[in-house]
Formats: sequence, structure tokens, C-alpha cells
Amino acid sequence: MPNIDLHSHSTISDGMLSPSQLLAHAASRGVNILALTDHDDIAGLREARHCALQENIRLINGVEISVTWNNRTLHIIGLDIDPEHPPLIDGLKKIRDGRINRARAIATQLDKYGILGSFEGACAQASASRLIGRTHFARFLVSQGHAKDVRSVFKKFLVKGKPGYVSHVWASLREAIDWIRGSGGQAVIAHPARYKLGNHLLEQLLCEFCELGGAGIEVVSSSHTPEQTRQFAQLASRMNLYASCGSDYHGPGESYFDLGRLPALPPECTPIWTAWDIPDIRESPIQ
Ligand code: AMP
Ligand code: MN
Ligand code: MN
Ligand code: MN
Repeated sequence: MPNIDLHSHSTISDGMLSPSQLLAHAASRGVNILALTDHDDIAGLREARHCALQENIRLINGVEISVTWNNRTLHIIGLDIDPEHPPLIDGLKKIRDGRINRARAIATQLDKYGILGSFEGACAQASASRLIGRTHFARFLVSQGHAKDVRSVFKKFLVKGKPGYVSHVWASLREAIDWIRGSGGQAVIAHPARYKLGNHLLEQLLCEFCELGGAGIEVVSSSHTPEQTRQFAQLASRMNLYASCGSDYHGPGESYFDLGRLPALPPECTPIWTAWDIPDIRESPIQ
């Protein structure tokens, strides 16, 4: 029975394990098919592929793209992408450049709050990454004793309305989907329950997403309650969207779900992997 996880992070973005360590960990948890989906970067895929061969894991080339839609941040996963596709490479580089400006603005705000040196501190946390994100600020702030762990430091400093929050404009939904589709991949809305959109906006998002060529939504996610999983399974089948499943694993200690421990997709779902050429799981209703 294949064990599939289509959402995970490495040190290339804000995960804690290098791509090789992630693949080794996935193998130790019995994962057969893994997508590495670093935020706004695909630089980990080469190392991951090398290690996947050794570990006998089928690696799906992935990415998690930061998007601004309707003044909100959404995450769009690209699965089975071509990492050599120039518009995708260029688009992601622009997002990473924007992250540096945002990081300086976050540091300026934290300076005013009396927390000095956070830009350098966050950069030091991100030394294995090609991008800088709030998680790196969070780890710096925890290391300085400003909160007990990453989760509480986010609540205290890094979410809307808190001293270290800076709003930012990411890629558009259309750009993200175009880059993903242009590279031969499928666009998937990550952890849809996290955005707390309400029925009306959710419907609007799904309609726009479908019109733009989006392919699926994450139905099983570590961010979802069992009730939300049922809700998104129904939505996916009503909207003719594929269903995906991913732990959003960031590393030991910081993730609720370990790799390889995801519940199965509800039976009404059409799994996204039925769109791929993987003969042994093509007909499989299980994950
Ligand atoms: P960024 O893309 O730099 O704004 O950072 C987003 C990342 O921060 C997410 O992918 C998570 O890894 C992490 N994150 C966001 N919100 C929280 C939270 N409340 N608690 C812990 N980590 C969070
Ligand atoms: Mn993250
Ligand atoms: Mn995400
Ligand atoms: Mn993620």
C-alpha cells in the first residue's frame, strides 16, 4: 500500500532537515512517494532526487508558492513541475528578492520594539536557505528567549497586528498557476482551511482557481481537523478538483504530524496522483 506525502520542507526554505536528511527520514517512516515543496524555491530538488534514488522513494518535484489574493496570503503548491522551466525559476527568484525587503522591514519594526539585530539573527538561522522567512525570525526570537517555542513566538510577534508583522505583496494567483502549468505541473491550493475564508470567499477562490487552470486542493493536511477534511473532500469532488494530501512537515519538534502518518483521503476524492504516470498506484483508491 503506497504511503504518499505531497507537502514537505527542507533547509532550502524553512524546514529543519537538509533535502538528503528529509529523504532519509521519509524512508525511515515508510514513505514511498514524497513531494519536496519548499517555499518559493526549487533548489533542493537535485539533492533530493539523488537521495530518493538511494532510498527507493519516488520523488515528486514540488514547490509551495506564496501568493497574494484578495489582500490575503495563500499558498499554492506546484506538483510534478519541471524545475528547469525559466518562467518558474525567474518568478521564484523575484519572490525571494521580495522576501529580503520584507525581512529588513520586519527587523526595523522589531528594532523599534527594542529587539535589536534580528535581521542578522534571522539570516544566521537561514544560513542553509536561499530565502528568508518568518520562521527564521521565529527561531532567532526563541534563541534570544523572547518566547518558549516557535509556535508561541509567532502568536506574540509575527502574525497580523503584532510588532514583527509586515504585510507583503507576493505573486498573483494567475502568475503562480501559469508558472506551474507552464512547467507541466499541477497547481494545488495548500491547507485551504488555514485561510478562514468563509463560504462566500472560498467559493470565489475556487471558481477563480478553476478558471485559471488550478488542478486540486489539499484535502488531507496537518492543518485540517477531520471535519475540515470531510468538508474539503466534498468541495473537491463538487468542483471536479483533484485531492492532495500532505503533512507540511518542517522537521522534528516543529511539526504536529511526522512524515508517513497521514490519514487516507476520503473515498469520494480523486487523488492527484491519478493524473501522473505511476502505474502501480494509478488505480489505487488508498494513499
Ligand atoms: P513566510 O512565508 O515567511 O511568511 O512564513 C510562513 C511560514 O511560517 C509557514 O510556512 C510556517 O512554516 C510558519 N508559520 C506561519 N504561521 C505559523 C504559526 N502560527 N506557528 C508556527 N509557524 C507558523
Ligand atoms: Mn513554512
Ligand atoms: Mn503553507
Ligand atoms: Mn508548507
